[in-house]
Parts: sequence; C-alpha cells; structure tokens
Amino acid sequence: MTCAYVGLGSNVGDREKYIENAIEKLRDADGVDVTRVSSFYETDPVGVEDQADFLNAVVEVDTALTPQEFLSVTKMIETELERTRERHWGPRTIDLDILLYDDLTITEPHLNVPHPEVKNRAFVLVPLAEIAPRKQLPSGERVADLLQELGETRGVNIYVRSADKSNETGKAEPNE
Ligand code: ADP
Ligand code: MG
Repeated sequence: MTCAYVGLGSNVGDREKYIENAIEKLRDADGVDVTRVSSFYETDPVGVEDQADFLNAVVEVDTALTPQEFLSVTKMIETELERTRERHWGPRTIDLDILLYDDLTITEPHLNVPHPEVKNRAFVLVPLAEIAPRKQLPSGERVADLLQELGETRGVNIYVRSADKSNETGKAEPNE
C-alpha cells in the first residue's frame, strides 16, 4: 500500500458539497482508503484573481493503485462532479491534484509528482501541514519547513463547515 496526498479545490456553486462529494467518491473508489481529511479552508484565488474564493482541503489516502491508475480515478471524479475546463487556473466545481505519491518523483507529460506548485501555494501547504507536518518530499524537505519558508499564509482561512455550525447552536467558534 502507498500513502498519497490529494489537494481538493472548488470555487463554483456549493463548494462545500463538491469537496465532500469528491472525498466520498475517493472513499468509494476500489483500491483507495481515505485515511485523513484536513479542515476546509477558504482561500483567495491565486494566479487568476478575478474569480470567486476557493474552498480547499487535503486528504491522505492509502492506495494499491499505480500513480497512473490513481490519476484516472481523480479525473473520473472531476468528470462526475461536472468539472468544466474553460480557463487554465480558472473557476471550477472541483479540482483534484495529486500532491505527493509515496516518495516518488514522476515527470510524465500528464503527471508531475510532487505537484510542481506544492511549495509555492499556501492553500496547499496549510492543509497538508495540518495532517502531515513531518511528511518529507522526495527532496527531503519537510512539509512544515516548506510552510515556514513560504511564510505568507494570508488569504488562507479556516472555514466553518455547515455540519459544524449546526452543532454549535448557530455560533461559530472564533478562529484565533
Ligand atoms: P490545474 O489543476 O493546473 O488548474 P487541470 O486540473 O485542468 O489544471 O489539470 C490539467 C492536467 O494536469 C491534467 O489533465 C493532468 O493530466 C495534469 N497533471 C499533471 N500532474 C498532475 C498532478 N500531480 N495531479 C493532477 N493532475 C496532474
Ligand atoms: Mg488539477
């Protein structure tokens, strides 16, 4: 079995539902166990900035699939959740990116692992560091150290999920 990390993002429609459904579909996929789920984070768009805020999360999976097989599973889930691709880095109902796969380095036309943007994106490093701070990239760098080096986590804020809100008599916990 291989441990892998997947980044999820949504900024169209019911973002929370899309991320929850994608995680549910990962749980249902043959040869895939979801072992950890980060908090959900509301994040400012990066790259293309004139679009709605994202919800992002990271999950840890245990899988018997090859990286290529696992990529097909994530693409299938995107298709099932009505992912449309109009613009590179543009609005999307759901995006699943393979961040890390065991300690493999993969450079193929359709698959780059570690995901090339992992180190540059607070919206990936913050949830990843929440569930796997000591995880090392193939380079030997630790997730928590990469986050510290990045420094900047403005625009990445913990999101109170609706299920949690209803358990708190409508009052959200303060974040700080
Ligand atoms: P982006 O996530 O950069 O906004 P897409 O989700 O549309 O763009 O992905 C475009 C392509 O990136 C996918 O079809 C996939 O083959 C390729 N790709 C390369 N490396 C990865 C990875 N680590 N995880 C997911 N997709 C990847
Ligand atoms: Mg993607």
